[in-house]
Amino acid sequence: MTQNIPIAPMLAEGDVDAFLARDLAVVWHPCTQMREHRGELPLVPIRRGRGEWLEGLDGRRYLDAISSWWTNLFGHAHPAIAAAIGTQAAELEHVIYAGFAHEPGLRLAERLVAIAPRSTTHPPLSRVFYGENGSAAIEIALKMSFHAHQNRGDAQRTRFIALQNGYHGETLGALAVSDIPLFRRIYAPLLMEPLFVPSPDAWNAGPGETAEACALRAAAALATTLEREGGRIAALVLEPLVQCAGGMRMHHPAYLAEARRLCDAHGVHLIADEIAVGFGRTGTLFACEQAGIAPDFLCVSKGLTGGSLPLSAVLTTEAVFEAFWSEDRTRGFLHSHSYTGNPVACAAANATLDLFARRDVIADNRALAARLAAAAAPLAEHPNVAELRQAGMILAFELVEDRSTRRAFADHPRRRTLAAYRAALEAGAVLRPLGNVLYWMPPYCIGDEAIDTLVRASRAALEAYAGCE
Ligand SMILES: *Cc1c(COP(=O)(O)O)cnc(C)c1O
Repeated sequence: MTQNIPIAPMLAEGDVDAFLARDLAVVWHPCTQMREHRGELPLVPIRRGRGEWLEGLDGRRYLDAISSWWTNLFGHAHPAIAAAIGTQAAELEHVIYAGFAHEPGLRLAERLVAIAPRSTTHPPLSRVFYGENGSAAIEIALKMSFHAHQNRGDAQRTRFIALQNGYHGETLGALAVSDIPLFRRIYAPLLMEPLFVPSPDAWNAGPGETAEACALRAAAALATTLEREGGRIAALVLEPLVQCAGGMRMHHPAYLAEARRLCDAHGVHLIADEIAVGFGRTGTLFACEQAGIAPDFLCVSKGLTGGSLPLSAVLTTEAVFEAFWSEDRTRGFLHSHSYTGNPVACAAANATLDLFARRDVIADNRALAARLAAAAAPLAEHPNVAELRQAGMILAFELVEDRSTRRAFADHPRRRTLAAYRAALEAGAVLRPLGNVLYWMPPYCIGDEAIDTLVRASRAALEAYAGCE
């Protein structure tokens, strides 16, 4: 052994307790109060993934009903994606992307601009800038928008508009334009302050108000803000159709059409964060399609590589690109990440797009989404479910104490969420409720046996949530 680098030997197959002891002694897991792992929250070591199933070190199978944080599209360890990764890694694993180029990055960019949402009234997205994760994509879009305005001499545009209950990531810029108090509040003194406007969330509809009317009411509030502040705004950033981290809250596409129109009227960029909803989750390849709009910036990640490797991309227009075109180096976009455009990740993304090209995934998902709706319907009858909502392959149950008033349980909210999570896990499915919202966002390969497991686990989770003392 050189330099005292230990071997850290793997454990005997199935020795879960020893694994947990070692893991909890050294690893700090994401988005976790680590102390919960000593009690209510089990840490689940996984040794392998196949299709929609994960296999634990304990030998049990778990249905990945949340696509491993919304990343997985076609199942775990997909042979075609794995092969593409292996082939690319053996050929060129990485190269600096400033001053250098490679085929996987070029091909992916060409394909992304070809499939990006388009509209008859707006120029197409024609330029691709790579990042390493979703938060990085948001940072890139925010900086690019601001800088494009600066380069055009529009120095006043230093602020952003974001939606209430929105989520765009955890790095300081992305967190600043997010409105989830659990994640944002403690860091507030460090964050730039966007203008938050009301969410078009149809859950907020008044009695008798349609989702569309609710969306247009939120758009009217956006119009008021833009009339007052429009000249100082660089961009509006939003999650089209579904505010995912905000509790899978859904809105009518009329909001997006209005937001697009208002941004144009005020010279404001529209940043569409399709990091979670892109690649077919809402029933179209991109959510923006349902409103017939093209944004000025499209941020994609998560499903981009089919859930296999970290990668993100920001697509923008020729107009934005041209604002940086200059003899002056400092007018260029001097932003980079070490692994920008990583060729292995780009190859995984190309393999994922090949899977979309091979069959009509969007059409097949329509049938699958209908099967999921039918499977979910009996659960929606539960007295503690106030609403079952769906956008394509995303279904969400709003859990409440009282269905008639739609009042959430006030006592032990965290304990209820944990109880629901544990009960689902016991029943063989990974469901990770967002507070009082239980949701399904399965991989597109989910089969009938898995849907049965999903229903059984969801019922167990519901009962545990409502019955928790
Ligand atoms: C997950 C997510 C992000 C952040 O992506 P990371 O890869 O986790 O940094 C941004 N926006 C939305 C809508 C997301 O769901």
